[in-house]
Amino acid sequence: MTEGDKAPRNGGQWGRSVDLLIVGGGVMGLWAALKAARAGLDVLLVDEGRLGQGASYGHLGALMAHMPDKWNAKKQFQFDALLSLETEVRALEAETGLSTGYARTGRLIPLPKPHLRDIALRHETEARINWRAGDGRRFEWRVTDQPPVPGWSQTEGIEGGFVLDTFAARANPRGFTASLTAALRHFNNVGVAENVAVLDLDGMRSEARLSTGDIIGFGHAIVASGYQAFPMLERLLPARKTPLGMPVKGQSALLAAEIDPSLPLIFLDGLYVVPHEGAKIAIGSTSENVFDEPFATDEQLEALIRRARQLVPALKDAPVIDRWAGLRPKALARDPMVGPVPEAQRIIALTGGFKVSFGIAHRLADAALRSVLGSAEVEIPSTFRVEHHLA
Ligand SMILES: Cc1cc2nc3c(=O)[nH]c(=O)nc-3n(C[C@H](O)[C@H](O)[C@H](O)COP(=O)(O)OP(=O)(O)OC[C@H]3O[C@@H](n4cnc5c(N)ncnc54)[C@H](O)[C@@H]3O)c2cc1C
Repeated sequence: MTEGDKAPRNGGQWGRSVDLLIVGGGVMGLWAALKAARAGLDVLLVDEGRLGQGASYGHLGALMAHMPDKWNAKKQFQFDALLSLETEVRALEAETGLSTGYARTGRLIPLPKPHLRDIALRHETEARINWRAGDGRRFEWRVTDQPPVPGWSQTEGIEGGFVLDTFAARANPRGFTASLTAALRHFNNVGVAENVAVLDLDGMRSEARLSTGDIIGFGHAIVASGYQAFPMLERLLPARKTPLGMPVKGQSALLAAEIDPSLPLIFLDGLYVVPHEGAKIAIGSTSENVFDEPFATDEQLEALIRRARQLVPALKDAPVIDRWAGLRPKALARDPMVGPVPEAQRIIALTGGFKVSFGIAHRLADAALRSVLGSAEVEIPSTFRVEHHLA
């Protein structure tokens, strides 16, 4: 590493080995780094680009629970994580003085067909049972006839009414990762190396080879390199013939419009319209398993923008101020992938958040750090464990 990359940002000089090496500084790696830093570990966070500029550099930041029906351990984990995020975010904002753009503003779901209303009414009852916080708060899946404000959304062709989900929240992804990055600066036990790639992890020697030619020894390593974690983990599992996961492309846009940021985000058939602070509205997202140009936007995004303008007349002439595309990490078994790799116990997977990483990364980071810190077990659904993904 050059001196500039060698993490003097936090005043430290890094030797040839660290307690914890973290590969990838997206929302997953940043939470892991912050929590490890708070626990006093010597941490080196390495990113082949800039921190927070992989898949975590989006616009939407929708934070939503699973449907309230057929409740199970996975739905409960996500619900609890989304609840605890509120406290984590407040602490982060207090620590850094920066805004993550977080607010529990809810979600509005237009129901185009009448039969959807009957289903929604069932979910209304189920939410009463399942969407309860330990502190007594209850959240609703409320069926209503009108949107909260005329025009948000339009009502033409919406025959079943609307659902107002009062649990959903949103955050600004770029503000969120910038806050996590800023928080790391308070710790002189954290080194950050940007524009440096980890080329290989050696599970036997507990060593990493970097693109700079350096070899770094580690007590543990967390692989949080988004979709690129899959091939890195596969190299530790030579017997495995099928890939662990794949990238799924997504495109989104940011519009400028004087819209009340406390309005609920709108969700209709894969289209999200998310009001943010500062008169900005995020529109997304495509979900593309096959693509030629991973980081380019195209007509599929323009079609989404047209749909958004139709659904919300106030966006009719709103200028597009940014268009963006990124690659989400999707595990073959679909769920997040967290925990020690059976063949290399000091190497820990932390990836596969696919479309929901921002709501759960802080809890997954706790789970990933458990074997490093020897801390109490963090209950994660069994389908998140690496063993499940390998099976
Ligand atoms: C259009 C779009 C909309 C989305 N909307 C939402 C949403 O509303 N809500 C939500 O929760 N999620 C959403 N997501 C998903 C979410 O953004 C991702 O799940 C999340 O960002 C993944 O975080 P990560 O830390 O795992 O990966 P990333 O953010 O991709 O971070 C991985 C990092 O690893 C680095 N890296 C890779 N290989 C190496 C290497 N060999 N050495 C060193 N560094 C390496 C990369 O440079 C990158 O910075 C959306 C995604 C997209 C694309």
